[in-house]
Amino acid sequence: MSSSSYFPRVLVTGGAGFIGSHACEHLLARGASVVALDNLSTGNPDNLADCRDKIEFVEGSIANEFLVDSLVARSDAVVHLAASVGNRVVSRQPLASIQNNIRGTSVVLAACAKYHRPVIIASSSEVYGRCPELPFVETADVVIGQSSSPRWLYGASKLANEFEAFAYARDAGLQVVATRFFNIAGPRQAGRYGMILPRFIRQALLGNDITIYGDGEQIRCFCHVSTLCEAVLDLLACPAAYGQVVNLGSSVPVTLKELAARVKERTGSSSRITFTPFESVYGKDYEDMPRRRPDTSKAHRLIGFETRYDLDAIIDDIAAWMRAHWDRIAAEQDY
Ligand code: NAD
Repeated sequence: MSSSSYFPRVLVTGGAGFIGSHACEHLLARGASVVALDNLSTGNPDNLADCRDKIEFVEGSIANEFLVDSLVARSDAVVHLAASVGNRVVSRQPLASIQNNIRGTSVVLAACAKYHRPVIIASSSEVYGRCPELPFVETADVVIGQSSSPRWLYGASKLANEFEAFAYARDAGLQVVATRFFNIAGPRQAGRYGMILPRFIRQALLGNDITIYGDGEQIRCFCHVSTLCEAVLDLLACPAAYGQVVNLGSSVPVTLKELAARVKERTGSSSRITFTPFESVYGKDYEDMPRRRPDTSKAHRLIGFETRYDLDAIIDDIAAWMRAHWDRIAAEQDY
């Protein structure tokens, strides 16, 4: 399925980020013209190095109503990815993060409703919180912890985005899909914001200890960013998906212990695999999710979504990219 025939010009918020930069490239490959908006808070202009001269890049914030209004007005559809991402960023800057995610998304949704532009919003597996049933299915009740703990703030902010999106759908006919991403990985993902795979691979390439936070029995499923981007663009062009929540991710589980061992083997590293208590990194109130796995049958029904178990390919891809960009990777201190 191709979205380009429907949407000649697409606005990507968070376009200089990890997923955003890949989304820009996938849109170009489908023949769309692309406007990328990013305030470079966690994004990096180097992420757009391969497509910079083929897209329009606007440095600015989704909180800027005037700017967002004008960009949405001259786009045919929007892929909204800009956010304060991940528990590490959010727990260090809770107020700025919740304001960024809630207000910023509000501005984007209002403009999309005003100009009747279809929009994908990026939500997260974090929305499921402590949901006890595996795999996580879109119809499950969400179980998040106390509002006094910043631990739940990221997931709660994404859930608030979903509620607002569907309120716009009901009240203003907004064509919106809320996609819940599960552990997306690939080249350009920054490890310094708490993302597991780039951190493990960088440690392995440096020959440093590969540090697992917790006991390593946590279960995750990793999906390649290219698979994700194709699915996002297919959903944008799928009217049957409008007004719905859709999980996107791999459904093949791996423990973090197994993951560390795969990284060590694939990179040929002599690193040791070590264990660090969660609290030493995230503070004593942090609670890690023991298991996280999506049910992706809805995405399969809507767009034929499939994932292969390509963990080795993901590791190889990230390692190759890191080796090719070693100056940038080595300079990043806060892993
Ligand atoms: P990222 O940090 O690389 O991308 C986010 C981008 O948004 C960055 O480029 C950042 O500079 C930009 N941004 C932040 N606030 C902004 C603002 N106010 N105005 C303009 N730009 C702003 O992270 P990512 O992994 O590419 O995440 C993209 C989206 O996917 C996010 O919404 C995130 O919550 C969601 N998500 C990602 C994952 C994952 O596994 N990577 C999982 C679940 C959800």
